[in-house]
Amino acid sequence: MSQSKILLAEQEIPRQWYNIQADMTNLPPPPLHPGTKRPAAAEDFAPLFPPALIEQEMSTERWIDIPEEVLAIYRLWRPSPLFRAHRLEKALGTPARIYYKYEGVSPAGSHKPNTAVPQAYYNKQAGVKRLSTETGAGQWGSALSLACSFFGLECTVYMVKVSFQQKPYRRSLMETWGAEVIPSPSDRTEAGRKVLAKDPDSPGSLGIAISEAVEDAVLREDTRYSLGSVLNHVMLHQTIIGLEAKKQLALVDDYPDVVIGCCGGGSNFSGLAFPFLADKFAGRKVRAVAVEPAACPSLTKGTLAYDFGDTVGLTPLLMMYTLGHSFVPPTIHAGGLRYHGASPLVSQLYRDGLIEAAAYPQGDVFASAVLFARTEGILPAPESAHAIHGAIEEAKECAKTGEPRTILFCLSGHGHFDLASYDAYLSGKLENAYYAEEESKRALAELPEV
Ligand SMILES: *Cc1c(COP(=O)(O)O)cnc(C)c1O
Repeated sequence: MSQSKILLAEQEIPRQWYNIQADMTNLPPPPLHPGTKRPAAAEDFAPLFPPALIEQEMSTERWIDIPEEVLAIYRLWRPSPLFRAHRLEKALGTPARIYYKYEGVSPAGSHKPNTAVPQAYYNKQAGVKRLSTETGAGQWGSALSLACSFFGLECTVYMVKVSFQQKPYRRSLMETWGAEVIPSPSDRTEAGRKVLAKDPDSPGSLGIAISEAVEDAVLREDTRYSLGSVLNHVMLHQTIIGLEAKKQLALVDDYPDVVIGCCGGGSNFSGLAFPFLADKFAGRKVRAVAVEPAACPSLTKGTLAYDFGDTVGLTPLLMMYTLGHSFVPPTIHAGGLRYHGASPLVSQLYRDGLIEAAAYPQGDVFASAVLFARTEGILPAPESAHAIHGAIEEAKECAKTGEPRTILFCLSGHGHFDLASYDAYLSGKLENAYYAEEESKRALAELPEV
């Protein structure tokens, strides 16, 4: 009998995160101060992050201990299950073995609490009373609200106004966990007031919301800012995913030929892939593929350059594949993948040929999501469906060649709050969307000079 769920006992949760910076031959160039354009020093980040997170951001230690208080909360849903997709394999008629690591079992429904919990913990340790952040689709805001409620921190979430109006239940979830949710642009910040003065009906954007959350944190002594992807310490916390998956595959005596994750800022992809790349650095053969939407293809179509993390230009400059910080991607349904850049670590690995990337349009991605729901049962988040589609493409290739590859992908979250996009797909209203090259060219012309 071949197993469907491969489970680890609670005491087998990894006790350390894996820091890929210890093993990379080429590290990404350092972040730059947005004003002086000189390498940012630790104290430049002090108004935004607590010391422990700044230290992790810059650390080259290979293993970093997970605090006991964080492990105690991880144990509420971790270790997460690894599934063998027997029914999907059969439907595809593929000789490939397909496994998926399911992160939708967290209380917030995605992988994001893996970093929200340690971020809240280190802030609490440093005496911080309140965290501010932004959220687009609502997944990151939910995860941080949850983590703050566990550690008795106040949490203020600037939520992009259109999402605030379109996704009232994400807001209810955040408020249930005790967070204050503010539609952005708001009149609470200088950045918000500026936007509203120009356009009182502005629908908002992730870039504007980041500017509001950053301003909020910088102006209040008791408040720090929290980011759900892109930065090194976020990639670090997410490696719990791949570290568990390695143990689970070992239980069934298997090892992936290819590891696949969807890529917005890069955190769930990194979380699954980095522990396997550790083996690749040691000489083992394994491929890693980051899958992005054709509407926002920062790795496959972007330029490697220093760019701002937000639209307004308040954050340090990061070296990353970017479509330009003022690039406005088409409104696709996988809101979590609508980011103009990619994590500096992911960008460096891509540049060095250590990982691959692929981009697919959302119509094809939703077709794969529905096939997955009808075979494996789980309704995937539209973001996660990009990884499913990437895995299905690999498995179809195996069906042609007869090669029995082992495929592992990250199912980063469930889609229970995304049913409006399934509605659109099922009623034939969801179309393939592609990025506009001219729009990205315009945005790239606005890259900061360094
Ligand atoms: C936020 C999110 C993503 C994209 O973010 P990454 O940092 O690239 O992982 C993917 N899947 C889900 C379910 C998300 O909530």
